[in-house]
Amino acid sequence: MDKDIKEFPEGLVPLGKNEFNFDCHPDVPCFTNCCKKVELILYPYDVIRLKNALKIDSEKFIHEHVNVIKGNNPYFPSIMLKLGDDEFCPYLEKSGCTVYMDRPSACRTYPLERAVDRTNPKAGRPQDYYFLTNHEYCHGHKESRNFSVKSWLRNQRIDEFNNANDLWTEMDTLFAENPWKGEGVGGPKQQMAFMISYNIDGFRRFCDERQAYKQFKLNKDERRRIDKDDLELQKFGFEWLKLILTGKSSLVAR
Ligand code: SF4
Ligand code: SF4
Repeated sequence: MDKDIKEFPEGLVPLGKNEFNFDCHPDVPCFTNCCKKVELILYPYDVIRLKNALKIDSEKFIHEHVNVIKGNNPYFPSIMLKLGDDEFCPYLEKSGCTVYMDRPSACRTYPLERAVDRTNPKAGRPQDYYFLTNHEYCHGHKESRNFSVKSWLRNQRIDEFNNANDLWTEMDTLFAENPWKGEGVGGPKQQMAFMISYNIDGFRRFCDERQAYKQFKLNKDERRRIDKDDLELQKFGFEWLKLILTGKSSLVAR
């Protein structure tokens, strides 16, 4: 077996350059079925996209649209989308997904699943692998449209989500090392980390009130991008967290 795919569980083979058939549209008999009882873990960039699409504050989004749950990380919570009373995703209407352009990473990537290998010394950088899911209920696989992984990623505009999710993975990995020290889970540092990760509007208010940017050497262009763009503010927040939790960061104190 190829050295690169040894690490995946038996039976799971990355698609590589192989192509697959798939399409999802209102005429498939299963249309919207997969938006029922969906267990959708949201990543920080998913929250930014959704709360901006819904034109609501991230604080309201976190209070009203998600449940905070214990996920895979033993030292940091995850968030899961709250479903409606009918057990359907709240963004679903008869016509389909009402947040389609800003739908979360998992909905966007389906029917593929992504795995990232950060340990491959040959590549010297993280390697993406994609696997094809094949749920019996999903008729999309019987459609004639044909994609490679590359054309699917382009078609679904997944790259910008992957780039943002990779930043998050780095933070999530750090949080999994229990960096909260004596404060424990739920202490001020973890609350700050939760705000930066999931409540970006709250973090913006926090920075404005405390004049947080003044602590660091940021040029005009960096400030302008942070002011205009939630993801840029989140990147700043993640670097600040790294400084607080590890002492190492790209931020330079004044
Ligand atoms: S966000 Fe859209 S695609 Fe994803 S589960 Fe909800 S309605 Fe379905
Ligand atoms: S089950 Fe598959 S084809 Fe049907 S709506 Fe969901 S993604 Fe589309």
